[in-house]
Amino acid sequence: MPRTVIIDLSSHREILWAAEETAGAIRADQLIVASGAYERSVPFPGWTLPGVMTAGGAQRLIKTLQVRPGRRALITGTGPLLLVVANQLRAVGTEVVAVLEAGRHPRWPQFLVKARGEWGLLKDAFEYWRGLRRAGIPLRFNHTVFEAHGASAVEAVTYGPVDPATWTPIRSQAEQVEVDLLVVGFGLVPNVELTTLGGCDHRYALELGGWVPERDACMETSIPGLFAVGDGAGIRGAAVASLEGRVAGITAAEHAGLLPRAEADRRRAPFLARLESLLRVRAVLDGMSRIRPGLSELATPGTIVCRCEEVALGEVQMALAAGARDLQAVKLLTRLGMGPCQGRNCAPAMRSYLSHATGRTAAEVGRINPRPPVKPVRLGALARMTRAMPADDPFQATIREALS
Ligand SMILES: Cc1cc2nc3c(=O)[nH]c(=O)nc-3n(C[C@H](O)[C@H](O)[C@H](O)COP(=O)(O)OP(=O)(O)OC[C@H]3O[C@@H](n4cnc5c(N)ncnc54)[C@H](O)[C@@H]3O)c2cc1C
Repeated sequence: MPRTVIIDLSSHREILWAAEETAGAIRADQLIVASGAYERSVPFPGWTLPGVMTAGGAQRLIKTLQVRPGRRALITGTGPLLLVVANQLRAVGTEVVAVLEAGRHPRWPQFLVKARGEWGLLKDAFEYWRGLRRAGIPLRFNHTVFEAHGASAVEAVTYGPVDPATWTPIRSQAEQVEVDLLVVGFGLVPNVELTTLGGCDHRYALELGGWVPERDACMETSIPGLFAVGDGAGIRGAAVASLEGRVAGITAAEHAGLLPRAEADRRRAPFLARLESLLRVRAVLDGMSRIRPGLSELATPGTIVCRCEEVALGEVQMALAAGARDLQAVKLLTRLGMGPCQGRNCAPAMRSYLSHATGRTAAEVGRINPRPPVKPVRLGALARMTRAMPADDPFQATIREALS
């Protein structure tokens, strides 16, 4: 069903979908959720200036819209995507002054041992790195952005080294460079809205990007018949996502009685073996790029941390002073996370901040609970719903109330 969004999922595996003109519900015995991820926002002074954009935003301008995002760029963040974007920017004629990787320099012997057999991945990584070397673009490890400056758009960036263990900015060694584009890529955050609404158990796993659904080896969540695969179940890249989808698909077919157990086992085996090999490489990359708490020290009291509701860090600090200890309390006191993005942008960064400021674990700081509709939908589409949700569904009751 193209141009269709899922706006709710119930624990009995019923999805509520909406398209331009209509909406409906589908109940499935086997349901595979592959909801992907969001880019992680890291607030710092000036991050809302035009010309500061995520790695995904820059890629979209180049690949989809064939637009050069800027003339002179600095790239900052963590992970291999920074190298990919640097090469892509260079290819469209943007001068890349440097790539700042917050993580440490890879320990090549350890990496090569873990990556044995995954030569394709290594070759790609080497090609991107060589592209940088050939273009004379410096790659500076344990460095990150401190501040973006400009009147109506980014004109310069202050950056510098970070403590290798915590990524705390070392401001005494800050440098400044003039650019009109700052690309920021601090990785992705799993999109777990649907699995959360579906009632699946979740756990906090920083190395997987944040909250992720609990799953067994065949990708089934705590709700029988409900599977979660790909980045929406933990950030592990495209190759892992497609293998997980295959394993879940075979298992769903087995549960549906379409494949005998032995045949399902035979079909799953090669995908599970490849997954194990890829996850070994991934573990090394995750170790380098795991978000460290010192990034929380980039924002100042005047820095906007919730763009939708224009909440500054100072307001969050006042909420903390008033006794708030988790994201839900901060949301109620400041409106952080109440805007159109429903906390997708601000919650991960503020979870790190609250955890850093209060000494509580990220899991204790909690989350901003998703509410349906998880994607924008027209009231008219809901009015033309082709099949109703159960009469006791709270969202359905809200819709009826709005329409009456
Ligand atoms: C900018 C960027 C560059 C990347 N570059 C690389 C790279 O070079 N190499 C690499 O291996 N990986 C890369 N990745 C990661 C790679 O894209 C992901 O690992 C992979 O796409 C994960 O696949 P997925 O199916 O889990 O999720 P996605 O491919 O993200 O698919 C999820 C889909 O679900 C849809 N969706 C979510 N919620 C709803 C809803 N409620 N209703 C309807 N649809 C919904 C989304 O719109 C999306 O189409 C990159 C990621 C980003 C953001």
